[in-house]
Order: sequence, then structure tokens, then C-alpha cells
Amino acid sequence: MIKQNKNEVNTNSNYNLKNNKFNSNGGEIHIGDKIHQEIKDNSVSYELNIQDNTFIENFSKYITKKLGDKKVAIWGLIELITGLISVFSSLNSFFDNISFTWLPNFPKTIGIIFLIVGIILLLAGVVFLNSLKYKKDTTCEKCNKEYAYLQYKNPLVREVETREGTRKNIIEYLECRYCHDKIERKHHKIIPYEEESDI
Ligand SMILES: [Zn+2]
Repeated sequence: MIKQNKNEVNTNSNYNLKNNKFNSNGGEIHIGDKIHQEIKDNSVSYELNIQDNTFIENFSKYITKKLGDKKVAIWGLIELITGLISVFSSLNSFFDNISFTWLPNFPKTIGIIFLIVGIILLLAGVVFLNSLKYKKDTTCEKCNKEYAYLQYKNPLVREVETREGTRKNIIEYLECRYCHDKIERKHHKIIPYEEESDI
């Protein structure tokens, strides 16, 4: 069963709002997606589009089948660590003024190679670890099948101004493609005000 807080969304009102909106404090809020409602308690709700996870899902299925979950985790970590080492090793090649005495000092061309290889390794590490996380996150809580959850409607975001920054409360609506069990998954992130002012 899906629990829905009826106070949160009123999809009929304020549908014509454009990207910019003023909240009750008079501050301007920039939001890229559809705004559905402005709530009296100084928060704004809007929907995100359903995420396309085709790449990470296909990669996750492929790599976990080929190596097994444990090896994917180990390789992911190795890639992250060697990627970081490689990027750090290149730093002295680019900064003449600031020299990191504890790091090697390669000629610029070798530094560039270290930097590129490092970035590739870092990206590979992130993709490896994310593919494991994706597998875990999409395993059905009821029937236990892997790669089961799909978003069946747009995730809902509610933004609240807090002292630390804008807190984004996100609700994802997921349905198992096998047993059709529906769940809501809530998470949040806080965007500090300094980052927002650059937008
Ligand atoms: Zn299921």
C-alpha cells in the first residue's frame, strides 16, 4: 500500500508556474523541474523525471555476473585508490609555484598521462561501486528478486530552507516488476547556501 501525505501535494494548483518563483520570504528560488505547489511552511514541492538507469543496470548485471559481487567491490576500491594516487602523482607537473615535496615531479607530458589514467581509474571505480549499490537498491524487499524495482511515477522533491542550506527531501516511488509490490523510498540531501548562490 502507498501512503501519501495529502497535505504535501496539490497537483491542480499552481500548474502554470515557470522556473522562477518567490517563496514567502521573498527570496527567489530557481528550480529546473515542474513546480507543483508552494506550501505555506516555506517549502516548495516539485517532481523530477523518472530516471533512466539502463546503462548502470546493464553494466551491473554484466560485471556482477562475470566477477561476482565481492570482486566487483574489491576492484572498485582498487580503481579508486590507484586513481587517486595517479592523479596526486601528476600534481607537481602542473603547479610550478606550489610544489608538493612528498610527491614525484614528472615532466609535463608524463604528468598528463598520469592525470588522464587517474581520472579514468577514478571513474571506473565509481561505476564499479555504483553498479553494486544499484543491485542492492533494486533488490525487492518482498520477493528478493534482483534488479526488480522500477520507478512507477515521478519522484517528488520537497525543498525546505534550513540553517545549513536547502534540504531536499526526495521520495521515490518504486514497484517490483515481478511481484508488483510498491514501496516509497525516502532520502534527503542538503545543499549549502554558498553553492546555491553560484547557480
Ligand atoms: Zn518483488
